[in-house]
Amino acid sequence: MADGTESESRKLLGRLRDTLAEEGAGQARLDKITHLIADSMRTDVCSVYLFRDSETLELCATQGLKPEAVHKTRMRIGEGLVGRVAGTGRPLNTENAPATRGFRYMPETGEEVFSSFLGLPVQRLGETLGVLVVQSKEARRYSDDEVYALEVVAMVLAEMAELGAFVGEGAALRALHQQAVMYQGTTGQEGTAEGHVWLHEPRVVVANPVADDPEVEKARLQVAIDTLRLSVDEMLNRLEPGDKDQREVLEAYKMFANSRSWMRRIEADIDRGLSAEAAVEKEQSQARTRMEQVPDAYLRERLHDLDDLSNRLLRILSGQGKETGAEMPADPVLVARNIGPAELLEYGRTLKAIVLEEGSVGSHAAIVARAWAIPLVIHAKNIIAEALNGDPIMVDGDQGVVHLRPEESVVSAFRDKMAMMAEAQKRYVSLRDVPAVTKDGQHVELYMNAGLMADLPSMESSGAEGVGLFRTELQFLIRNRMPKRGELVNIYARVLDAANGRRVQFRTLDIGSDKVLPYMKASDEPNPALGWRAIRVGLDKPGVMRMQLQALIRAAKGRPLTIMFPMVAQFDEFRAGRDHVYRELEREYALGHVLPERVEIGTMLETPSLAYAPRQFYEMADFISIGGNDLKQFFFAADRENERVRRRYDTLNSSFLSLIERIVERCDEAGTDVSFCGEDAGRPVEALCFAAMGLKKLSMRPASIGPVKSLLRRVDLTEVRDVISTARESGVQSVRQSVMDWLATQGRNGS
Ligand code: PEP
Ligand code: MG
Repeated sequence: MADGTESESRKLLGRLRDTLAEEGAGQARLDKITHLIADSMRTDVCSVYLFRDSETLELCATQGLKPEAVHKTRMRIGEGLVGRVAGTGRPLNTENAPATRGFRYMPETGEEVFSSFLGLPVQRLGETLGVLVVQSKEARRYSDDEVYALEVVAMVLAEMAELGAFVGEGAALRALHQQAVMYQGTTGQEGTAEGHVWLHEPRVVVANPVADDPEVEKARLQVAIDTLRLSVDEMLNRLEPGDKDQREVLEAYKMFANSRSWMRRIEADIDRGLSAEAAVEKEQSQARTRMEQVPDAYLRERLHDLDDLSNRLLRILSGQGKETGAEMPADPVLVARNIGPAELLEYGRTLKAIVLEEGSVGSHAAIVARAWAIPLVIHAKNIIAEALNGDPIMVDGDQGVVHLRPEESVVSAFRDKMAMMAEAQKRYVSLRDVPAVTKDGQHVELYMNAGLMADLPSMESSGAEGVGLFRTELQFLIRNRMPKRGELVNIYARVLDAANGRRVQFRTLDIGSDKVLPYMKASDEPNPALGWRAIRVGLDKPGVMRMQLQALIRAAKGRPLTIMFPMVAQFDEFRAGRDHVYRELEREYALGHVLPERVEIGTMLETPSLAYAPRQFYEMADFISIGGNDLKQFFFAADRENERVRRRYDTLNSSFLSLIERIVERCDEAGTDVSFCGEDAGRPVEALCFAAMGLKKLSMRPASIGPVKSLLRRVDLTEVRDVISTARESGVQSVRQSVMDWLATQGRNGS
């Protein structure tokens, strides 16, 4: 194959396939393969290095280096030329290896006499499994044809490894997807769960990477591509005129599906002896490697589109649709690159946990997971390449950690933690019907946040005194079209029915920023969190808000109604929103609808400016609910969606507490009801401090009510207030440590 002709290449692949078909242990196969490659490429050396663990490569077979070095020579990613190929995922071709940057002399291999070096990553779907190397004494640069031919061989090796062809004796030859792997991701929703992997998009198994007849494979490819193009066209035809983002993605699909160069590259791989599936996968693998290296977010998205399209093509070619025949385990942990809320809702509450490679804390999937109180870990990098359907998996949503195929010691430690949490859960259930009254007799009302129908059963089970925040936008976000007024009436009426007389604070549509409706034209803003969102949209284009207000009035049907506006930044915005409510009440009355028995109109306080609004604003608002998620991001100028800065400023920072204190004082002066409904209300220590600052109404996710109530009932709020005051006077940045220290003494006293 030194001349790189296609037929030579096909011959080699044919011989590799025969080796795969032969009986024999994995090591013997690998030895034979290195021999075949060296012979076919007329090189002095051919070696295969495979990952022994996630960091270390091991020489597993060689033709030409000293045999004693096999299973002894090891290097870490980035170390030596082999480590460099593994680290970059890119080929390295040099005629003078010893003079090349990064070269490391390994005396046990005897490789110092070989001048030229060509190393290629052995990759499957972007996951690097090892490195394939050829070396020669003669100083020469391998031709492009030779590099290309070896790339095809590396692809076949990767498929063989995936099929378990090298499994046998020797630790380095353990089957893939069997070792324990830990992923450090980010918390999307707290909680722990144990279960078995259920891949949202199961990986396609390429049973035969090598094919004899390129013409047959090309014809198969053509048929599959035609089917693919047709399905993309159909998807495009089904789009509504407003589906701008989906259209953009599908247009990108269409462009790739019609791309001659994509097709040509796949066909060239087939000419070299790969089956159509393996050729598509080789292209996909290389696109994934590029994807990790592209800094431009837009281009990365397009490479993602190409990746999705390749998956579709592979599924068509291999006949392995989503219905692979695999049975969903009884305790499924969903593993996906990303997932939309609608798809997630289809799985229902059967899921034990969710692990995503991407996602964000504020994503819609995260919102659904939170509503279901299902542990969610996001940013678990590369888990899809590693996980197989049915693998045991443990998810620690508190720490953002995932253990795939965990070792025994991890399993038992994890189960201990789960048992402790289950104990605590029992305690919380026993507290369900008792109020959150502190030791000094102060009652803190605990409400729940809701937004999905899935939340309704929690009204009973959590012991919430009502709904402090109903995020109406969730009903808009989980659909792919605008809900109709009649549907909204239905939904809101069901919420009020479930509340059974308890208070429900409906927040009008809070869209914009991270909450983008798939069917509404997204405005391209440099700073969406500070942009045209929430009440700003409602006042400028009141159509949807008015429709929503009408639906709320009709749903209340004579019952009390509570409405609040999101993201109000100044008095006038509140006044204008309130006027809209009155106008709709008049209109509904004129139309003959029954009006609510009583209407309370309040607002979220999410911008520091509103804390300093005129006294008349506080007097006019029936109630105020502090939206700490946004208030904190604007107060500290730290994006709540940005992992780099999200946790940089503590909620118990003295300055932030001063702001909260000021808002509470102003509400008290005006006799206005005040509550706190950001995520922090659900964290026991934060909740305790808020209560001590005078907030006697907290709204949180239902699962947090138990832990918060349990702590509140054990403390004397006046003492907490003293601890906070002393800490603030001492000039600390955050009062957290002082409060924690004080709590520890309470624990020791057994109270
Ligand atoms: C908040 O900002 O604190 C809040 C409760 O609203 P959301 O999280 O929906 O923006
Ligand atoms: Mg908000």
